[in-house]
Amino acid sequence: MKVLISGASVAGPVLAHWLHRYGFEPTLVERTPAGRHGLGGHAVDLFGPAAEVARRMGRLDAIEASRTRLDTMTIERFGRRPVHIDLTRLYAGISSDHVEILRGELTKILYDATRDTAEYLFGDSIATLHDDGAGVDVTFDSGRERRFDLVIGADGLHSNVRRLAFGPEESMRRPLGGYLAVYSMPPVLGLGDRMLGHLSVDKLCGAYGVYQTGQERATFLFRKREELRYDYRDKEQQKALLVKEFGDYGWKVPQLLEHLDTADDFYFDSITQITLDSWQRGRIALVGDAGFCPGPAVGGGTSLAMVTAYILAGELAAARSDPPSGLKNYEKAVRRHVELTRAIGPTTMRGIIPGGRAALELMPFAAAAVSKLPVPVQRLIWSRNAAGKALTAVPLPDYSDLIQSKGGQAVA
Ligand SMILES: Cc1cc2nc3c(=O)[nH]c(=O)nc-3n(C[C@H](O)[C@H](O)[C@H](O)COP(=O)(O)OP(=O)(O)OC[C@H]3O[C@@H](n4cnc5c(N)ncnc54)[C@H](O)[C@@H]3O)c2cc1C
Repeated sequence: MKVLISGASVAGPVLAHWLHRYGFEPTLVERTPAGRHGLGGHAVDLFGPAAEVARRMGRLDAIEASRTRLDTMTIERFGRRPVHIDLTRLYAGISSDHVEILRGELTKILYDATRDTAEYLFGDSIATLHDDGAGVDVTFDSGRERRFDLVIGADGLHSNVRRLAFGPEESMRRPLGGYLAVYSMPPVLGLGDRMLGHLSVDKLCGAYGVYQTGQERATFLFRKREELRYDYRDKEQQKALLVKEFGDYGWKVPQLLEHLDTADDFYFDSITQITLDSWQRGRIALVGDAGFCPGPAVGGGTSLAMVTAYILAGELAAARSDPPSGLKNYEKAVRRHVELTRAIGPTTMRGIIPGGRAALELMPFAAAAVSKLPVPVQRLIWSRNAAGKALTAVPLPDYSDLIQSKGGQAVA
């Protein structure tokens, strides 16, 4: 059974790993010329169930070894004393298994886990798809033509497979009213392993240190009542929007913006969810951000991508002779989890970007106070909260009896 996966970041390689182990032949097509590996990209989180998927793949030790060291955050506000927050205690309160890692490092570890068992086509993209019920004919931008039994879109928030098979993005976007910008810069704030943030009404900005590169990563989040119109591929236009929003902010922002023009990894996007009613159709399906992005940076998307890719592979293996049924069963198996994760983005946004003066006064103290509660008490709070449940309380099915080839470590 030949499966084409579009996108080789998080969901793609996890899916390829498990498909290979169940006896499928995965091919990954990735638009970037050499994968998005390395020390670029933002820090992402693996909570309990996602860490368990990595453990079952035999990659959790490698991921742990590359974890970030961002243990404390200082929050500043105009005219107020700084508040210090112990992030390790906050994360421990959400989940006993939490790892933060740069996305490029995670992608590299997942690539290494699959490079010998999956075919990788870098620097290419799907141009057309035709599902005739018995298979899918695919043409690529490069001109090659191939036929696959299944095609899976793991190609992120602005998914190409979704556009080709499910329709234009516009109808399935749910903007949460916020925007996000991130880029690397020299260590201008001298942060070491700390995060420094500055809050004001509708705005959060700051930076964190990346110990592996000695650089710092500037981060801006802001809320707008009206949606901004911009081309998501036009970086210069996006930089201009950021300057318009923060150009006269004050604080240390001029030092951050000084490095905007030279940043080669500038990222800007709206904080948007993808809310499709169904993410499978015939022999084509979506996984990770492509199918149900819960909102970049605020929604636990990395954990969701890993867990849903694992379940997709397992359900395909369980329905082996009938892949369309496997895709339907996958949708059924992950629907509840996907719906729960839709609560995380709005909750996190309310928690980190103050919506008014009262929130600006309270938020830093609330975060510091929660982090000082005993971990079991924090866990109790999270276990009663939809966002907390979505991040940690996902039952992971055991498909180990379907495994046909070695790789990774045995399921406990
Ligand atoms: C700035 C920022 C901060 C974030 N912070 C966090 C965080 O703190 N915690 C967290 O859990 N998550 C965070 N996220 C979200 C997280 O990065 C995603 O949820 C996660 O990477 C989803 O994985 P994915 O594999 O589904 O998609 P992606 O990681 O988006 O990967 C999609 C892949 O598809 C490729 N691709 C795109 N188009 C094509 C095409 N036409 N053909 C072939 N390949 C294509 C891309 O190059 C990419 O490799 C953040 C995201 C951003 C942008």
